[in-house]
Amino acid sequence: MKHVFGPVPSRRLGFSLGVDPVVPKTCTLDCVYCELGPTTNRTVERKPYVPVDGILEELEARLAENPELDFVTLSGSGEPTLNSDIGRLIEGIKAMTDVPVAVLTNGTLLTDPDVRAALAQADVVAPSIDAVSKGAFEKVNRPHESLDPGVIADALVTFAREYRGKIWLEVLFVEGLNDDSDEVGRIAGIIDAVKPDRVHVNTVVRPPAAPHSRALSPARLQEIAERFGPAAEVIASATGPSQPKAERDASDVIVAMAARRPVTAIDVARSAGISQAAAAKRLNALVERGVLSVVRHGERLYYKQ
Ligand code: SF4
Repeated sequence: MKHVFGPVPSRRLGFSLGVDPVVPKTCTLDCVYCELGPTTNRTVERKPYVPVDGILEELEARLAENPELDFVTLSGSGEPTLNSDIGRLIEGIKAMTDVPVAVLTNGTLLTDPDVRAALAQADVVAPSIDAVSKGAFEKVNRPHESLDPGVIADALVTFAREYRGKIWLEVLFVEGLNDDSDEVGRIAGIIDAVKPDRVHVNTVVRPPAAPHSRALSPARLQEIAERFGPAAEVIASATGPSQPKAERDASDVIVAMAARRPVTAIDVARSAGISQAAAAKRLNALVERGVLSVVRHGERLYYKQ
């Protein structure tokens, strides 16, 4: 199985080579907006879900092709900090390349000092915080039963005090679940304490895990971003940079498949020899660009031209 994918153009990170240190779909949460579909293994157990040495070998081979890159990004098929060897993984990547390392995390395991120490080596940590109250947390993020949003918010503040790199916080809003004024105020309070370098205000823009999740209007997102202060910007409607050639070639192959019959991320992953997460990202990027459309049938998302 491949654990390195891309580079993919990302709205937040430019051209990013993805590293996936867990297996689909392993996460501490089961967010209603998740583009990877429902969480099949909701857990807080940290272990070597994927052996780090194999990931580093794969990454070394990919970097030898000199792809055009802004970041090497740990993300993928769930929550990357669930891999108990993530510290050794980041250390290995830093020894291999000068390309900055970013970690996309839901922040739920920042309560663990080992996770905070591991992430301290990254250049950018991009945690998400969608809710501070228990009610909103349960509605939007559908967490593992052991998780408490207040404790997680405190751990995020602790991490921000210790960490020397950049923090790019993401807050994703779903209409009617976490966008009331009181919840926005509570999140603003955490932002004041964390003092992140950037705050990305987002909403549901891709086909979500829960089909009835609704996006906020651009005007409401802008209003919230203003409440969050000068570091905040709305990224929901922004588009990524234009694609590098290798990515264009991969996109052409996917479009050709979808022109013949509707395809799922599993179909694309199998035929392109990439992870399901990487396939979903590529397909969703094509949907965002208006090249493909997506329909849900039962539990599956089908992409077609
Ligand atoms: S959006 Fe991220 S944190 Fe939420 S379920 Fe999906 S992988 Fe997990």
